[in-house]
Amino acid sequence: MEGLGERSFRAGQVYRWIHQRGATSFDEMSDLSKGLRQRLSEQATLGPLVKDLEQRSADGTVKIRFRTQDGRLIESVYMPSADRRTLCVSTQAGCAMGCTFCMTSTLGLLRSLTPGEMVAQVHAVNADLRRAEGLAANARPLTNLVFMGMGEPLHNFENLKVALGILQSEVGPNFSHRHITVSTAGLVPMIDRFGAETEVKLAISLNATTDEQRSRLMPINKKWNLEALLAACRRFPLRQGRRITFEYVLMAGVNDTDDDARRLVGLLADIPVKVNLIQYNDNPGLGFLGSSVERAEAFREILAQGRLAAFIRQNRGRDIAAACGQLANLPGAGAGQTPALP
Ligand code: SF4
Repeated sequence: MEGLGERSFRAGQVYRWIHQRGATSFDEMSDLSKGLRQRLSEQATLGPLVKDLEQRSADGTVKIRFRTQDGRLIESVYMPSADRRTLCVSTQAGCAMGCTFCMTSTLGLLRSLTPGEMVAQVHAVNADLRRAEGLAANARPLTNLVFMGMGEPLHNFENLKVALGILQSEVGPNFSHRHITVSTAGLVPMIDRFGAETEVKLAISLNATTDEQRSRLMPINKKWNLEALLAACRRFPLRQGRRITFEYVLMAGVNDTDDDARRLVGLLADIPVKVNLIQYNDNPGLGFLGSSVERAEAFREILAQGRLAAFIRQNRGRDIAAACGQLANLPGAGAGQTPALP
């Protein structure tokens, strides 16, 4: 603003317009002079994402596909429930981690998202909800954020950190650290930095109980094995009363036996955890099947007997491929093309 010959407080006004009210054009910024709005729109652009497709599930879940300015396609998933409205945010277009059960990994890493592209997913969904419900311009209908969409958030840590700062900003969307969770496949050195440099919650995508099994499912385990990963969890600076969430996707005959459940109890015994069990969502061509309801329940029961807080997580958006590990149904994404609007 000073560079434009304006008073510096104008920057705060623009910040609020963008990050509190979700403005997508300078024209909306009614407390700026017309001349300033004009100069801003000549020198800058707003809105790094364009909504490209929206799919609604029978269970209320909505998958939103966005196109970046360079034509990449990313997806966010909105999950309303009785007591919260959660958005699952993507941090990369594609992913480099190569988990063998995950559709996103089939894209490879196309590129990491900027902080603006992460934040814009949140702003766009908040704006849609405000419009649909006739809410005030500064209302923030989303209550919770989970960074579990496309990509490995800690593989894009610097940008993630900036995005978290904006999302937690009091003059922005003002999310509490208690309502933001970041999930990692196990980038151990970054878990330490994440613990030291942010205050939001940590989730670990575990999915296996032996190194042999985990390395097959999640190649990152070859670099940082279970021992290294769990050691990082043990030294993670947990705020009072907080636990680390462990996600465990149950795949029939792969990682869902009673022995797996017993091993899991042993692995997590001395860490304050909550375990989310997720029945795998079948992805064509990847060769894995989800465990049955009965198997999932038997698995949970063994964890409960071992004094682990374990929950079978409701599967959201299965019918629109919006559930865990399914975010990649992106025609043309690999080639960086933009599909036609439906
Ligand atoms: S499960 Fe997560 S970390 Fe693994 S390939 Fe998929 S998006 Fe990447």
